[in-house]
Amino acid sequence: MKFKATDNLNLRSEPSLTGSVVKVITAGTIVDSDENVWKKVTLADGTKGFCSATYLQAIPEPPPAVWNIPIPKIYFVLSQTYLNEDWSLYPKFGHHTGVDYGGAGQTNIPLYACADGEIIYREVFNSAWGASLGNHAVLYVHSVDKSFLYCHMPADPPTLGPVKAGNKIGLMGNTGKSAGGAIHLHLEGFHGRFKIADRSFISLADIKKKTFDADSFIRSKIK
Ligand SMILES: [Zn+2]
Repeated sequence: MKFKATDNLNLRSEPSLTGSVVKVITAGTIVDSDENVWKKVTLADGTKGFCSATYLQAIPEPPPAVWNIPIPKIYFVLSQTYLNEDWSLYPKFGHHTGVDYGGAGQTNIPLYACADGEIIYREVFNSAWGASLGNHAVLYVHSVDKSFLYCHMPADPPTLGPVKAGNKIGLMGNTGKSAGGAIHLHLEGFHGRFKIADRSFISLADIKKKTFDADSFIRSKIK
């Protein structure tokens, strides 16, 4: 559980006033602890010690992540399903690695963060991966330990950092190898925190192991 220091206080080596002072914590500092009276405390820099509980105020745990659809509702209809088999479109392993939502020929359709999370990766269309994915970015959602790769944006992908569910993170576009050039969102779900190497698929089994149906997953979260 997290606590806030209500005054400047000593972080001690032992749970007693005779314990030596490891560090002086300034009022307002947030610390981790799970004990009473003398709290065993861990600072953000990893320093451990004990503090008097009198000066530590409990902070409630953050609520679970809120979920949002990744595009406006009228477009939230699949134009292509996860693992759809088409060897002409996907000559390498014959299957679609994500889900597609079509833009019905419209431009300026916003893309939304599907949950509270963090943009952990971004690439532009003239990079190595960009040749197929266009301008793209990955949203990592800590609460479920899953990543969402948004592809084919018309302009630069969003900057790295935290985002909230429903924040606009780009526009639907057709940069990269967008099938037939149609404006659409290609969305890929990855288990865990995405690493570039995760997308170097070596087989259909590898695709199935690393990715999941992002559409079904998001729908299961939106009640
Ligand atoms: Zn696609």
